[in-house]
Amino acid sequence: MPVNTDAQKIRLLMLLRRSGVSDARVLSAIERVPREAFVPDAFLDQAYENRTLPIGLSQTISQPLVVALMLQALAVGDRHKVLEIGTGSGYQAAVLAKLCRRLYTIERHRPLLDVAVERLEALGIRNITTLWGDGMLGWPKQAPFDRIVISAAHRGREPPTALTEQLAIGGVIVIPMGEDKRDQRVVRFRLTETGLEREDLWPVHFVPLLPKVADAPA
Ligand code: SAH
Repeated sequence: MPVNTDAQKIRLLMLLRRSGVSDARVLSAIERVPREAFVPDAFLDQAYENRTLPIGLSQTISQPLVVALMLQALAVGDRHKVLEIGTGSGYQAAVLAKLCRRLYTIERHRPLLDVAVERLEALGIRNITTLWGDGMLGWPKQAPFDRIVISAAHRGREPPTALTEQLAIGGVIVIPMGEDKRDQRVVRFRLTETGLEREDLWPVHFVPLLPKVADAPA
């Protein structure tokens, strides 16, 4: 275990504040989730660095600043039903669970999902329902959602139709997207009575959002 987790965590929270994270609920949720529980042992000393770290199967746990800014943009309320695509390590799911009423999270890699579920259970987080599946299809049985957040980059000009169809009126989607790998942006959509309103936020680099569930490892 890293010896000075508290000091490292305080330094990270200061960095988040300096970098534009002002939402007190988001900062408090990040403070309460032990990121070291979601990174591989070999990277424990970097758990509170503002870095992406490998979690296996060519996937990564997102940078804390990106998680914080995306969740701030998502404006999650404590009555909200939220859908997350790309559970990965489960870290962002744990943070989200502190902000919303219930979180539904989908991951296409079964081994990653299994590990994430174990960690979330070990931390006693109970308001999360998980699914091994293709998040691009959303979760029709649980729709509509007040908030939808995607943790992998969608290639295209519009968010996946299944996801916009599963959004409640007044709902928000935050999604990294772009037509080119080198030109990804986080985009926020709000569904109003008259349609989707789009707002381009900032540039990012995410692993790609891929169709279908991943094949079971040989
Ligand atoms: N939020 C995660 C970041 C995971 S990286 C964390 O905090 O650790 C993105 C994840 O999205 C990867 O695990 C990848 O397997 C998953 N992913 C990509 N396309 C997907 C899809 N169509 N459905 C579900 N998960 C997907």
